[in-house]
Amino acid sequence: MALILEGRQVAAGVKARLQEKVEALRQQGIQCGLAVVRVGDDPASRVYTNALVKLAGNIGLRADVRTLPGDMAEPGLLAVLGELNRDPGIHGILPMMPLPRHLDPDKVAETICPDKDVDSLHPLNVGLVAAGKSRWAPCTPRAVMTILDHYSIKLEGKKVAIVGRSNVVGKPLFQLMLARNATVTVCHSKTPDLVSVVRAADVVVAAVGRPEMIGAAMIKPGAVVVDVGINEVGGRLVGDVEFAAVEPVARAITPVPGGVGAVSNVMVMEAVLRHFAG
Ligand code: NAP
Repeated sequence: MALILEGRQVAAGVKARLQEKVEALRQQGIQCGLAVVRVGDDPASRVYTNALVKLAGNIGLRADVRTLPGDMAEPGLLAVLGELNRDPGIHGILPMMPLPRHLDPDKVAETICPDKDVDSLHPLNVGLVAAGKSRWAPCTPRAVMTILDHYSIKLEGKKVAIVGRSNVVGKPLFQLMLARNATVTVCHSKTPDLVSVVRAADVVVAAVGRPEMIGAAMIKPGAVVVDVGINEVGGRLVGDVEFAAVEPVARAITPVPGGVGAVSNVMVMEAVLRHFAG
């Protein structure tokens, strides 16, 4: 039986800490705000936005949701971001991804003020994280590290396989884990013999977006398994890991839902408050 890495419990601890911080700021007359920018009405981004708005309210942050038409031209979107950059009541900006195809995500990333860049999309923040000079990596990799730290799971000297190399998950997580002296292999759709690479790992992180693609045969007995994937299948959420089959083999595993996603959401709020980080 694996130890279940309960993201909800980890998130509750972070949330309590953030509530205290927001209250202390409020007593100094400072009200912090998050802006979520949505272009179009993608249902998954609507669900995510609603969860963030609810959490922001619980913590005591202002949440400003800008829902823009799906056919909005790029200059209009960049103008909204510019306005939010200048708004002193907004401390963090999070554009919902993916953007409609006619919009360039790189332009969006470059337009967000680096100080308000919740998910570290701006090239300056990408570079600082890669150089190990900023602790403000994107929210999901920070969530993974927060969970591992909470359960005192050490990475030094361990072999890690990260499956998925996206800019917001796999690549920055590689940097964070390398900085902890793990030996990290980042896998992707062109990785030959994925099974052998993953099966050699002491810690496996799945960030693919393919329901339950990592089965028990890919997991070394006693490995730690972190499932970043969120996939909707037949009206329920499943991860990229086949939880029921892998759990008996693993030493520890995150569930979906209630794992990484729960912590990622509080990491968004933490990033909004980074200006006031102690
Ligand atoms: P993404 O940008 O689509 O990247 C997916 C990665 O998986 C790519 O690097 C891709 O390889 C790789 N891949 C695809 N098929 C593969 C295969 N058969 N074998 C090996 N690698 C394969 O996805 P993402 O944004 O990183 O998200 C990944 C998953 O995490 C999704 O389920 C998403 O919903 C979830 N997610 C969760 C959170 C959270 O808070 N829990 C946050 C963000 C994302 P190539 O690069 O070669 O195409």
